[in-house]
Amino acid sequence: MQVKTDTHDHEDPWIIGGKTHLRGLTLAGLGEYVTSLGEPPYRARQIASWLYDKIADDFSQMTDLPLPTRQALREKAIIGSFRRAAVQVSKIDGTRKYLFELHDGNTVESVLMRHGKRITFCVSSQVGCPLDCRFCQTSKGQFRRNLTAGEILDEICYLKKECLEEADKVNIVFMGMGEPLLNYRSLVQAVGVINEAPGFELGSKRVTVSTSGLPRRMKNLADEGLKCSLALSLNAPTDAKRRELMPAVSKYSIGEITEAAGYYAAKVGRKVTLEYVLLKGENTSADDARRLGKIARRGSFKINLIPYNPGRDGGFETLDEDGIQKFIRELLPYSPTVTVRRSKGPDIFAACGQLWTESLGARAVPPARS
Ligand code: SAH
Repeated sequence: MQVKTDTHDHEDPWIIGGKTHLRGLTLAGLGEYVTSLGEPPYRARQIASWLYDKIADDFSQMTDLPLPTRQALREKAIIGSFRRAAVQVSKIDGTRKYLFELHDGNTVESVLMRHGKRITFCVSSQVGCPLDCRFCQTSKGQFRRNLTAGEILDEICYLKKECLEEADKVNIVFMGMGEPLLNYRSLVQAVGVINEAPGFELGSKRVTVSTSGLPRRMKNLADEGLKCSLALSLNAPTDAKRRELMPAVSKYSIGEITEAAGYYAAKVGRKVTLEYVLLKGENTSADDARRLGKIARRGSFKINLIPYNPGRDGGFETLDEDGIQKFIRELLPYSPTVTVRRSKGPDIFAACGQLWTESLGARAVPPARS
């Protein structure tokens, strides 16, 4: 399978409709931009604070900037690049799923959920997903393109604005639509901004990138010096089973991807989590549990079990609570750090593996040809 990656329709992805998309710039780039407008360098921090802390949506709100500066920005720049097209709220747990329409008509989904005092933003990195994981609804839609760093940050800022008074409780997980490491440069830029921007400054406990397992890029990410945790979607305890469940990425063996995860853990100083979707009868036998436990023990990984969420078409069976407990009992002697991810928003298809914009009647349009 040929996977096209790291491409954008425009060679300067921060230019939209002839204007500079401010959230599409790195913080250093924002500094250069304000200087190019003839402004003093300290304006960059003022503007960054409006973009990422107070989440302004109009230049007129930037009241500590001189009027001519606001006017110049209005003529040459934009703050956000998309509009909210729909929102759904779960009747079960209040989880909110948003559909955003990008400037070219494509759409992506993001989810805002609460676990006790914590708030989690689950964000997308691509329009659709080029991978073909059998259990994941996103793979059923068409892959269109990567998001720009600015679009990823617009998603995050939109969600932040929805809970601005509680911004100190926010965690961000790159577990929405797409494979983040296939949109590597935008991911790195976006994580850099949420690590450093005034009003965010989120550390590695608060930011998690989840990957289907691209070993070279996992190692590159480790070397970036970012503050972020890594989760690896293992999902199968043997290469043969992984080939069935996640064909597109199974050219990398479990040995290679766990070696890369070990490299990440050593370099960043944080344990990597192995995610494991429980697909009844596929990867849930006692043997599977023991094999998974041994893999986790070898790399001193944490394990996060994810009960399968059927999409609209289903395709697999969900393990019941007894089955989950039995699986954990087999696992525990090998790997004491096991958690179960209790999915949120099942009634609005907001849970892991259920994001798929067409399900909201949304559009995905082909990239413009240049
Ligand atoms: N492409 C990335 C991130 C998106 S998927 C990755 O593969 O990690 C985020 C998590 O949801 C992954 O661990 C994935 O295995 C899991 N997932 C996908 N489909 C699921 C489903 N139907 N039920 C439960 N979890 C699912």
